[in-house]
Amino acid sequence: MNYNKKSVRDVDVKGKKVLCRCDFNVPIKEGVITSDVRINAALPVLKYMLDQGAAVIACSHLGKPKGEIKPALSMKIVAKRISELLGKEVKIAESLDPVSEEAQQIAKNLQPGEIMLLENLRFDKGEEKNDPAFAKKLADMADLYVSDAFGTVHRAHASTAGVADYLPAVCGFLIEKELGTMGKALADPARPFVAILGGAKVSDKLNVINNLLEKVDTLIIGGGMAYTFLAAKGYGVGESLLDSEKIDYCKDMMKKAEEKGVKLLLPVDTVVAKSFPDPIDGAIEVKTVAADAIPADMQGLDIGEKTRELFANAAKTAKTVVWNGPMGVFENPTLAKGTIAVAQALADSDAITIVGGGDSAAACEQLGFAEKITHISTGGGASLEFLEGKELPGIACLLDK
Ligand code: ADP
Ligand code: MG
Repeated sequence: MNYNKKSVRDVDVKGKKVLCRCDFNVPIKEGVITSDVRINAALPVLKYMLDQGAAVIACSHLGKPKGEIKPALSMKIVAKRISELLGKEVKIAESLDPVSEEAQQIAKNLQPGEIMLLENLRFDKGEEKNDPAFAKKLADMADLYVSDAFGTVHRAHASTAGVADYLPAVCGFLIEKELGTMGKALADPARPFVAILGGAKVSDKLNVINNLLEKVDTLIIGGGMAYTFLAAKGYGVGESLLDSEKIDYCKDMMKKAEEKGVKLLLPVDTVVAKSFPDPIDGAIEVKTVAADAIPADMQGLDIGEKTRELFANAAKTAKTVVWNGPMGVFENPTLAKGTIAVAQALADSDAITIVGGGDSAAACEQLGFAEKITHISTGGGASLEFLEGKELPGIACLLDK
């Protein structure tokens, strides 16, 4: 997959009508937007285009209306919020149909430096079906397409891929950053390249493990998925999380690592408890045991101290580190030490550090390490498919550099 794609900086937007697919899928509680993170993330590219003299037709989905008009998921309050944060009027049609005559008319009359927002794209069945007729209606409003909703690039929808059949397509600043860091790490990494994988299950990340073994110098496996690897080594794992159908797969991956000369690091010790914490952040009694000495009636819930050191040291010598998936049940303070140690190692490192995956990204934010990470990927599902080496329709459709 080619990650070297044209961005909005590589084309002339002056005097053009630009259809810009953003991620304005913001959290809303009782009619109030509860986080501006996604809107704020989109402002730089919107401002850039407006300053350059483009007329911007922004669009996004919101929630899951499944092709039906649901007034509670209207973009009106999003338009109002963008307008407040941008300090500029954001026009929006009264009609809830994203491609209504009214919306088309507003788009037609939109002047350079002006911005409008279309209604929720998923109010139209054509969006998620990638219906060419719907894509064409969107495209007909504009001269250029800017794709900047990374969280949806793994889906071929009308607004994320279909419109590129009718318009020159480039990426915005957010996708440009995803491609420049994650894309570069996968295509042409500064070495040593170390990947750290964790999370609950091996089966969630089968293709990620397989693909990363083609690219990295060291693969580190922690979190719940490590126990299936330990079982594949012949160790007893007690009551730990085990993907019993994936033991052979783990054996294959260990063999592949050896053949490729990739160093595969597994936990050498683990924090165990009699049962999973309930509630998840409740008090829990734990002890640390060697990885090959997990008692039959206990379960591993975090990596142990020696493993924390082993993993952190491996990360420290790297020039590129990609991390996906917590090292333990980090939602519990007693079981968060492994995840904190890895986050700290990444924060302290001079390497290019990339974090993908919803829970790992959340862990970095919660623990206050986000500022010190080179790049935290914004799309959970999309970043996983990226690491799997899959072709992402919303990236593939963009013009090559
Ligand atoms: P991400 O969203 O970063 O890709 P995952 O969704 O794959 O990560 O996994 C995160 C979940 O894995 C967390 O809820 C965490 O509690 C759980 N987890 C990590 N280690 C263990 C373990 N040893 N046993 C059970 N669950 C674990
Ligand atoms: Mg997750």
